[in-house]
Amino acid sequence: MLSPVIEVAGLTKTFNGVTAVAGIDFTVSAGETVALLGANGAGKTTTLSMLLGLLLPSAGSVRVLGEDMIRHRYRVLGRLNFSSPYVDLPRRLTVWQNLMFFARLYGVPGARRRVLELAEQLDIADLLKQRSGNLSAGQKTRVSLAKALINAPELLLLDEPTASLDPDTGDWVRGYLEDYQRRSGAAILLASHNMAEVERLCDQVLMMSRGRIVDRGSPAALLERYGQDSLEGVFLDIARERQGPDAPERAAE
Ligand code: ATP
Repeated sequence: MLSPVIEVAGLTKTFNGVTAVAGIDFTVSAGETVALLGANGAGKTTTLSMLLGLLLPSAGSVRVLGEDMIRHRYRVLGRLNFSSPYVDLPRRLTVWQNLMFFARLYGVPGARRRVLELAEQLDIADLLKQRSGNLSAGQKTRVSLAKALINAPELLLLDEPTASLDPDTGDWVRGYLEDYQRRSGAAILLASHNMAEVERLCDQVLMMSRGRIVDRGSPAALLERYGQDSLEGVFLDIARERQGPDAPERAAE
C-alpha cells in the first residue's frame, strides 16, 4: 500500500511558552482534499508552516511523501508547493519574472511554456508585465496560485486559497482546484474560513481549537454528528465549545 502523502504524529509547537499546536495526529492520502478549520489563532498556519519545513516542531514528527521533514525536507520540497495570500511575492519583480524565477527554482522543464500555460489557465496573461506589488488582492491570489502550481505539485498546501476573491472568481478557483486534483491525483491540505468552500472541496475536515484537533470526519459525518445542516453550524458549535451529540475526541479531553 502507498504511504500517505502527509503523516503527522504528536506534532507540537510552542512559542516562548505559548502552545500554538498541541500534539496533533493526522494523515492525508494522495487524491484527498483535507481542510484545517478553526477559529483565528487555532494553529492552522503554524501547522502548515511545519509541514513546509519553515518552522521546526517543538515535538512530534512530520513525514511528507515518505520523508522526515525535520531531517530530509530538501528531498521532497520540489514535489510540494504552497499558496498563501499573506506571503507576498517580491514586489518589484513583474509577474512574469516572479513566475519564471520559481519555475527555474523548481527546475521545471520548459519553464516559459509552463508559465504561459498557467497564465492562460488562471486568466493572468494580461498581468504578466505588471509589477507584483501593484496587483489587487484578487489578482495576487491568482498569481500566487500560479506560483503554487508551477511544479505540478503532488502535495498542495493552501492557506485560505480564495481569501479576497469576489464570489465569481472564488467559485472559478474552486473549480480549477477540483479539476487540478482530478487530473493530477495530488493531495491538497487547505486552511479556510469559507465553509461552503470546505463542503464543496474537502473529503475530510480537521477541526482545530487551541492547537488541538478536537474533531474530524467527512463534512457529511460532521453535519450528522452535530445535528447541523451546514458546516458553519458545526464550526460555531466547536468555536463556542458546545458539545456535539457524539464528539469523541472532545469527550476524551
Ligand atoms: P488565523 O485563522 O487567524 O490565521 P491560525 O489558526 O492560522 O489563525 P496560527 O497563526 O497558527 O493560527 O497561530 C496559533 C497561535 O500561535 C496564536 O496564538 C498565535 O498568536 C501564535 N503564534 C503564531 N506564530 C507565532 C510566532 N512566530 N511567535 C509567537 N506566537 C506565534
